[in-house]
Amino acid sequence: MCAEEQPTRERPIYDLDALRNWAEVTGGVEPPLRLAVFGDPVAHSASPPMHNAVLAALNLPMRYTRIAVRAEELEEALGLIAARGFVGVNLTIPHKAAALALLDEIDPHAARLGVVNTVRVEPDARLRGFNTDGPGFVRAVQEAFGVSLKGKRVLILGAAGGAGQALAAQCLLERCERLVLVNRTFEKSQRLAENLRVRFPEEIADVQLEVVEWDRATSRSSLAEMDLVVNTTPIGLKAGDISPLAPESLPANVLVFDTVYRAAGTPTPLVRAAREAGAQATGGLSLLLHQGVLAFEHWFRQPAPVEVMRRALEG
Ligand code: NAP
Repeated sequence: MCAEEQPTRERPIYDLDALRNWAEVTGGVEPPLRLAVFGDPVAHSASPPMHNAVLAALNLPMRYTRIAVRAEELEEALGLIAARGFVGVNLTIPHKAAALALLDEIDPHAARLGVVNTVRVEPDARLRGFNTDGPGFVRAVQEAFGVSLKGKRVLILGAAGGAGQALAAQCLLERCERLVLVNRTFEKSQRLAENLRVRFPEEIADVQLEVVEWDRATSRSSLAEMDLVVNTTPIGLKAGDISPLAPESLPANVLVFDTVYRAAGTPTPLVRAAREAGAQATGGLSLLLHQGVLAFEHWFRQPAPVEVMRRALEG
């Protein structure tokens, strides 16, 4: 993995086997590892430096790490964290939707969104799931572009994935004007739309919800009808990835939010393409920050020092 692809290099990356033998594998690590992000891939995650900066600043005697957990390993991995003394975990690709069925309790907002990205271990060892991507996205859009989602025409690429579903549902809660769901596997976006219509009858009455095939949705004429285009696919994560949207198809008036991120100051392929087209664009570090702030507040039930976390990401 090249430096451009990986914002930070906090080694090592653990795996399920390490989690099974946690005391033996991490016995010498001080302060102990009590928080982690589970994902596959997970090496790119910039959550550890962000959370470790705040843990150190607040003198909380623990650290946050990355654990590579494959889809079929999630249930066992979640089942181990309480006994290993974890405060909680974050979940990233591909675990956000699957986790819903594996936790003891789901926060009502996360249940509405249908996706979990933060897990807290309760004092009685039960696991409670939250979603901080949705509200984190609201804050990140406001911070990046100075606008709210209310009344906006929003297109989500990769809408049927874990992050896409959460952001789509959050857009409904925020009463966007129009919501266009786009997904590589078209049937999944159709199923998502049906599901959203059932779960959000009141909100849907105010929002024009559409499912559009990838090629049609990403034409210049379709994109020109949008205020905000959001990428929630992993395209851009790997070195050598090309932008999911060509500069020629992007009108200058559209705002582009790529949830994928690279090191601070290094634009993702989509952000580069959007800027080439004269459009305002931001990568996913602002979403990482704000979802992380909210996750921290769920784990420690105290306000997170946002600027400490921001500096760790920008450093
Ligand atoms: P996920 O649940 O696995 O969903 C992935 C989505 O991307 C699916 O809709 C999938 O379509 C689509 N996709 C995958 N590869 C594709 C390709 N080559 N071409 C077109 N579509 C493709 O993953 P996730 O948890 O939602 O995460 C997705 C991305 O969002 C990750 O890369 C992550 O970096 C980013 N994210 C960032 C933040 C942040 O804090 N910045 C927060 C959340 C997510 P199919 O349905 O056809 O498979």
